[in-house]
Amino acid sequence: MEGAKAKPHAVILSSPGLGHLIPVLELGRHLVTAHDSKVTIFVVSSGTSAAESQVIESSMSLKLCEVIVLPPPNISDLVDADAAVFTRIAVLMREIRPAFSSAMSSLRFPPTVLIVDFFGNESLEIADEFKIPKFVYVPSHAWFLALTIYLPILHEAVNGEYVDEKEGLFIPGCRPVQPEEVVDPMLSRSDQQYLEYLSMAIKISKSDGILVNTWEELEPATLAALRDDKLWGRISKAPIYPVGPITKQTRPIDSNKKLFEWLDKQPSESVLFVSFGSGGVLSKEQMRELAWGLELSQQRFIWVVRTPAVKSGDGSFFTVGNGNNDIPSYLPEGFLDRTNNVGLVISDWAPQVEILSHSAVGGFFSHCGWNSTLESIINEVPLIAWPLYAEQKMSATLLVEDLRIALRSKTLPSKGIVEREEIKMLVKRIMVDEEGHAIRARVKELKLSAKKAWNENGSSKALAQVLC
Ligand code: UDP
Repeated sequence: MEGAKAKPHAVILSSPGLGHLIPVLELGRHLVTAHDSKVTIFVVSSGTSAAESQVIESSMSLKLCEVIVLPPPNISDLVDADAAVFTRIAVLMREIRPAFSSAMSSLRFPPTVLIVDFFGNESLEIADEFKIPKFVYVPSHAWFLALTIYLPILHEAVNGEYVDEKEGLFIPGCRPVQPEEVVDPMLSRSDQQYLEYLSMAIKISKSDGILVNTWEELEPATLAALRDDKLWGRISKAPIYPVGPITKQTRPIDSNKKLFEWLDKQPSESVLFVSFGSGGVLSKEQMRELAWGLELSQQRFIWVVRTPAVKSGDGSFFTVGNGNNDIPSYLPEGFLDRTNNVGLVISDWAPQVEILSHSAVGGFFSHCGWNSTLESIINEVPLIAWPLYAEQKMSATLLVEDLRIALRSKTLPSKGIVEREEIKMLVKRIMVDEEGHAIRARVKELKLSAKKAWNENGSSKALAQVLC
C-alpha cells in the first residue's frame, strides 16, 4: 500500500474535439503505462459528436485512466451563432472552470500535477489552490508553439492584419511564418478568436512548463531556439518538454470488416488514404475535382467522404461521426461504379490508425492535422498535404519544405479550387513516381528517429520530469 500512495497522480483536462481529446487520452495512457502514475482525465465533451462519444467510451473501457466527462456548459448566450470553432471552444473552456475546480476538489486521491490542453489555460490557476505544478499540453509542433508564445510580441510589432504583411513574420531562431500560413485565429484581428488566442498565448507562458508533441530530430532548430535563453528568456520562462511522438494506438476492431478484407487483398503500399481529420469538409466543387483527380490517377484509394460545405474548412468539428451522409449525391455521376474496383468510399468517420498501419496503404492525402501527421510518420506513410484550418498551413510547410515527406498543390486549398489534373498528378507523384519512392524512404528514416525519441534520453524522459 505504501508504494501505491507514493504514485504521482496527474489530472489532465481536455477540451472538446477529437484532435484535442485523442492526444490527451494517449498522453494519459503513456503516463500510466510507461511511468506508473495514476491519471484522471476530465473531458469536456462537445455533447454533439458521435465519434467523440465513441472515443471516450473506448478509452473508459481500457480502464487505464479514470475518465470523467464534464457536460458542456450552455454558451449560446455568450457566443454568436456563427462564431469560429476556436472561439466556441475557448468560451466553453472558460465556462467549465467552476465545474472543473469543484470536480478536482472531490477527487478521492489528491492530485500531484495538473496538465491542461492548450484550450484549458483558463483552469491553470486551479493548480495553485492545490499547491501543485501546472503544465500545458500542446498537441502540435514546436514551430506552432513558438508562433503562439511569440504572439504577444507580434501583436505589438505588427500594425495591420498579419495576412497583409509583405514578409514572413519573424519568430526568434525559427523559420518565419509567411502571411498566408498564419493560423486561423490570426486571420482577422477584430475577430473574437484572435483575442482568445492572444490571451491563451500569454497564459501558457506562465505555466510551469509546456509539453509539445514533437521530438528532437523532427524539429531540431526550433527546439534549440526555444531552449536558447538569449533568444526566448525574456519572452517565456516556461520550459519546453518535447514529449512526442504521442499517437493513437491501433486497437482490434470488430466493425469495418469489409474494409479490412478489401485492404488485405491490395498490393503492398498501393492504396492512398484520403481523409481530413475530425473537422475537415470540402466545398462541393472541390469535392468533385478531388473525385475526378482520384479517378483519373487510376490509383487505389480509400476516401472518407463528408457532406460538403459552402466553403472548405472545419465544418464537421462538432458533429463528426453522426453519419448523416448521402454520399452518392455529392460525387460525380457514376463515380462509385467506375471506381468500384480500385476505390472504397467511407461515410464520415473511419478507423484511421488501423488503416494507416495496414501494409497496403502507401500514401495519405491529409489535411495535416498534427495527430494525423504523426500517425502517418509512425506508419511510414508519405503525404499529400491539403491544409484546411487551424495551424495546418504551417504543418504543411513543415512537412513539404523542412521534412520533405509530403507534396502539395500549387494553390493553397483554402485559397481556391485545386483542379482535377493537378490532383491526378499529385497522386501519381506520391504513389507511382521515383519522387514518391524517395519521399517514402525519408518517412521511414523519420519513423526510426521517432522510435529513438522513446529511448531513455528522449520523450519518455521529458515526461518523467513533468511527473516529479
Ligand atoms: N480520426 C479517425 N477517423 C477519422 C478522422 C479522424 O480516427 O475518420 C482521428 C485521427 O486518427 C486523429 C484525429 O482523429 O487521431 C484527428 O486529429 P488531427 O489532429 O489529425 O485533426 P483534427 O481533427 O484536429 O483536425
